[in-house]
Amino acid sequence: MLISGWGRNIWVDASISSPPNSLGPINLEKLSSAIPRGLGRSYGDSSLAQNVICLENNNLLIHFDDETGILECESGVSLFELNNIFISKGWFLPVTPGTQFITVGGAIASDVHGKNHHIDGTFSNFIIEFDLLLGNGEVITVGPSSYPELFKATCGGMGLTGVILKAKIQLIPIQSNFILERKIATTNLSQTMHAFELYANAKYVVAWVDCFAKGSHLGRSILMVGEHSEAGGLDENQFTQYEFPHWAPKGLLNGSVLRAFNSCYYLKQKLSKCEILVPLRKFFYPLDAIKGWNVMYGKEGFLQYQFVLPEEVGMEGLRDILREISESGRGSFLAVLKKFGPKNSNYLSFPLQGYTLALDFKIDPGLYQFLERLDILVGAYGGRVYLTKDSRMSEKMFKDSYPEWPVFQSVREKYHAINKFSSLQSVRLGL
Ligand SMILES: Cc1cc2nc3c(=O)[nH]c(=O)nc-3n(C[C@H](O)[C@H](O)[C@H](O)COP(=O)(O)OP(=O)(O)OC[C@H]3O[C@@H](n4cnc5c(N)ncnc54)[C@H](O)[C@@H]3O)c2cc1C
Repeated sequence: MLISGWGRNIWVDASISSPPNSLGPINLEKLSSAIPRGLGRSYGDSSLAQNVICLENNNLLIHFDDETGILECESGVSLFELNNIFISKGWFLPVTPGTQFITVGGAIASDVHGKNHHIDGTFSNFIIEFDLLLGNGEVITVGPSSYPELFKATCGGMGLTGVILKAKIQLIPIQSNFILERKIATTNLSQTMHAFELYANAKYVVAWVDCFAKGSHLGRSILMVGEHSEAGGLDENQFTQYEFPHWAPKGLLNGSVLRAFNSCYYLKQKLSKCEILVPLRKFFYPLDAIKGWNVMYGKEGFLQYQFVLPEEVGMEGLRDILREISESGRGSFLAVLKKFGPKNSNYLSFPLQGYTLALDFKIDPGLYQFLERLDILVGAYGGRVYLTKDSRMSEKMFKDSYPEWPVFQSVREKYHAINKFSSLQSVRLGL
């Protein structure tokens, strides 16, 4: 079956197997080497290989303790399914990415971050334990203090240590289905950075950057700051999705359309009411409202370039990179800036204390050379690129910017993962 990541830029004709359930056996002996896969929302080639173990249908809820908020579920349960059930009961995900169409296994394997990284860190901070199927067929229960090195290798380990079968997660209590959202318009990068400092104690902070803006407007942004509301109640947890119009013209996303979109969007947000109550799912997952929006980039697909720069060089580095982007005319309509808190001890987790920017680029003939120039800047500033969005980084860039990769490899060796779990990405990166 032909499969790709969310960016639809790399396809593979894969043989797909699905384990019966978390308690049933998976015959790894038959598979020379395979990669686990959830809902395929990683953008590039991290869930692609000749043999894929698809966990999408392993979505049973096993146990929920409504005193403590601890949930035990199979790894193929999606965040969407959890939101459908738990928001109206007064519980929410402690950390959530910008889409709810991902699985719990995918969230652990990418060690995802949300708009609250500066306060709460990554998804793995809320994992009590998970069951991991190793390359020798054994299933062990892994937690931060039982098998700590395997925990640190698996959280953020892109499926390369084994198959996560089920997990225990700590949910957080909420009193309302609403977020009190505040929008702050800034006119340049230093104002944007200053606004991040001002709202350092707010629970959720994210900025949309107008990456076409130049000169004195370089880095102008709309900062969105959110807190869980106590008002509004827990009902009305519906979520509506619209189909992406397939009649939409090709070439829709050319430079002038994007430039015009960015200016209008900036002005509209600047003029909008600055404090409103927004339903949780609208605040966290604006893109999910349009089903299959990834097809709008056409048949060549697109990729997301997400990097992080250390805090000390954040301003200078972002300025250089934004200038490079705006001068190239390759602005992205989605440009999301967040501030990360301290890094954790997982070997391949992406966040470093500093600033992260995510940009979507349509694939075109000069894109890869352009991104190589950005890689050089990111590397020179001591930053790195997010593995779950990557489909093209070089082995050298990866090994220089993820210095704990040798420890990661030794843990994989010890737990029988080498030659058993691999993806197109891991082969490219020399893992
Ligand atoms: C619109 C959008 C917004 C996003 N926003 C964010 C964001 O804000 N923050 C963020 O951190 N990420 C974000 N992401 C990325 C997304 O959260 C991750 O790529 C996530 O891992 C996808 O989960 P999945 O279930 O689709 O996994 P897949 O894409 O299928 O797989 C991703 C990785 O997880 C591994 N994996 C999957 N299931 C298992 C398992 N059961 N056992 C072991 N390994 C497994 C795979 O091998 C692969 O390496 C976003 C993605 C999209 C499309």
